Amino acid sequence: MRGLCVLGSTGSIGISTLDVVARCPDQYKIVALTANNNVDRLYEQCIRHRPGYVVVKSPVQASQLRERLNSVNGQTVEVLSGAAALAEVAALPEVHSVMAAIVGAAGLLPTLAAAKAGKRILLANKEALVMSGLLFMAELSRSGAELLPIDSEHNAIFQCMPANYRAGSRAKEARRILLTASGGPFLYKPLDELDRVTPEQACAHPNWVMGKKISVDSATMMNKGLEVIEASLLFNTPAEKIEVVIHRQSVIHSMVDYIDGTVLAQMGNPDMRIPIAHALAWPARFESGAEPLDVFAVGQLNFEPPDLTRFPCLHHAYRAVKVGGTMPAILNAANEMAVDSFLGGAIRFTDIPRIIEFVMDQSVAQPVDSIDTVLTADQQARQVAKGYIQRAIKT
Ligand code: NAD
Ligand code: MG
Repeated sequence: MRGLCVLGSTGSIGISTLDVVARCPDQYKIVALTANNNVDRLYEQCIRHRPGYVVVKSPVQASQLRERLNSVNGQTVEVLSGAAALAEVAALPEVHSVMAAIVGAAGLLPTLAAAKAGKRILLANKEALVMSGLLFMAELSRSGAELLPIDSEHNAIFQCMPANYRAGSRAKEARRILLTASGGPFLYKPLDELDRVTPEQACAHPNWVMGKKISVDSATMMNKGLEVIEASLLFNTPAEKIEVVIHRQSVIHSMVDYIDGTVLAQMGNPDMRIPIAHALAWPARFESGAEPLDVFAVGQLNFEPPDLTRFPCLHHAYRAVKVGGTMPAILNAANEMAVDSFLGGAIRFTDIPRIIEFVMDQSVAQPVDSIDTVLTADQQARQVAKGYIQRAIKT
């Protein structure tokens, strides 16, 4: 039995992870679960999965949860709180694998702690890798930690790589990566209507049910931009060899083009339990609970290039990866601030790429030489974004 820590267990990926784990009870034991605010769901998860440790945001939430759990027979859970506790449970000796499924920059330090401790990392939290870049990859090779991608596209690419492939290495015979994208809910929406779309419309993804932040990122295609950066690091491939392909059906999850002309694709229903089960079972396989793919119902597979006028965020992400250093962290911070403001009703959908461009223009990238450099760049970018957003609200 392997010990599993699920960072962000109450979110969309966290819930799907626990669903898969429940299907293979002889494979994994849940060591730790963590949540930000959803203590009720975490309580239910404790009853069902009996972790040794849980982490919540505040000491008040921790004492309330402790009290509730004390009244349940046989529950002996260590209830912790705060950001440092997230890093602590990710590095516990009884943890073999860490599902990194916190959303955004908040996941960086605990995911890095798992890398430092040499854990097997199942990486959903793409923002952590985008921010820390080569620093994170260096930590993996120093500690010998393994990384298995959970993002469906990166998991697909990993599955299309040669046997014995390890994240971070370069597959020389791979000529190009074709990163597929659904195009989100606004792929064909008239451009002049985009400044009026609501958070509800932006979160109504045609193929996937996900957390709110990644849903908005999919609507702006910043999600694909972050994924280009993620892929360039995971597969040690320059961004110009990573081509984004709009594939409306979300059945092919990405492709690798080899020098002999072979193109390998990984297919399946759009169900995150498939990449999650792949990473949990790797190098074996076990059941995920996903429906078998009905190719006759799919019927057609279509491909088209992305329109960068419609999706400027994708352009900004390519720019950030080209500049390098802390620029991807700056891009990410500006995007997190902008998405948060959009979800809160403070700005328009079309302000998101404007804020990101402004913050990038105002910032100077530094070499990523320490985690402090990354965190400073993140904080400074948030300040610049905040100023812009406050001015945008007033006008
Ligand atoms: P979500 O919003 O549904 O869940 C986020 C989780 O993180 C929750 O458990 C929440 O409690 C926790 N969290 C949020 N802020 C926190 C903080 N400040 N401190 C500690 N914990 C915090 O998000 P999601 O859709 O599950 O996405 C999680 C990550 O996986 C994201 O990085 C996303 O890009 C990535 N991802 C998600 C999907 C998907 O289908 N949902 C697919 C690919 C990649
Ligand atoms: Mg993805």
